[in-house]
Parts: sequence; C-alpha cells; structure tokens
Amino acid sequence: MKTRTGPEEALRCSFCHKSQDAVAKLISSPSDYPRAYICDECVAVCNSILEDDRGDAHPATTAGHLPKPQEVKNFLDDYVIGQDQTKKKLAVAVYIGYFGAGAGILMLALFAVMGMENIHTMNAYKTLLASCANGVAVVTFMIAGAVVWPHAILMIVGAALGGYYGAWYAQKLDQSTVRWLVTGIGAAMSAYFFWRG
Ligand SMILES: [Zn+2]
Repeated sequence: MKTRTGPEEALRCSFCHKSQDAVAKLISSPSDYPRAYICDECVAVCNSILEDDRGDAHPATTAGHLPKPQEVKNFLDDYVIGQDQTKKKLAVAVYIGYFGAGAGILMLALFAVMGMENIHTMNAYKTLLASCANGVAVVTFMIAGAVVWPHAILMIVGAALGGYYGAWYAQKLDQSTVRWLVTGIGAAMSAYFFWRG
C-alpha cells in the first residue's frame, strides 16, 4: 500500500469515495482527462456484476457440476432394471455429447478392449459414433439458444478442414505410427485435464 505524506489530500476511489488508506489497493486511470481512481473493493463488485450478466446470457456454461459417465449410469440404474451394457454405452454417449474432450481417444480405447484390431476400422467407427453423439448435442444446444455463432462458425471451418485432411494423412501413415500418436495424445490430454482439475 502506498502512503502519501505530502500536504495533498489523500486520493479517493472515484466510485465509493473511500480514501487510499482505507482500501488495500487504489488503481489510477491511464490518463488525466479527468484523472479517476478505483479501489480493489469496487473492482471486485464490478467483476461480480459482469459475472452475473455472463451467467444470465449462457446458463449452460455456468453449470457447476458435470456428471461423469459413472454418475450418469448410477442415475440410470435408479430407473432402468438390467440392460447394463446399454446403460454404460448410453452414459459414455451422453458424456461425449455434453463435454466431448478426449471422446475419440475414449472410444478407441473401448474398441481395443472390445477386441478390434485394425486402427483404420476403429477410426471409421469412432468418427461415425462421434458424429451421431455430436449431431444430437448440436441440435440440443441450438434449440436451447446456447450457441455462440461467430466462434462456432470458425470452429466448423477448422473442424471440416481437420477432419478431411486428418483422415487423408492417417490413411497414408503406418498403423503402428498412428497407434503411437493416439497413445501419446491421449496421455498428454489426460495429464492436461488432470492438471486443470
Ligand atoms: Zn471504491
């Protein structure tokens, strides 16, 4: 905290008029036309107002808790008797549609466990299933009005290019190279999301 010892009056927050000594931090405007100040408390109040506005505009982005596939399945267990395999697949599909991060890697791992061996076949199934899950999710988000179109359009173009050329290059690559790439990217993403919490 800065303290002034000169003859001048203590600086005050232009919003709440608390003096510099009464607050932890007083921030000055960048220019003198006219010189204004804001204290840390007013910045915090302004931030929470902006936060509330953002919450109203996009309710989907402020959902506090994202259910894991296991939790989705537990929920289904309360309503559906038996059908264990189907409930597990549905839980993974819901996860892919709502969150989606690492979905492709998740499916490739699932196919490998199920006994599939040709990575190109697995990639084809993965793409088909991801298209179905994401297609349903896209329609749901559009109906809910939760799509930010300028960003979405940019991503559509990027995804289309990546999807087309990605498949083209993957076909040219050796199967074991693709396998190692998938394993590496999967491990890196797991580490990233673990670190991000
Ligand atoms: Zn203030």
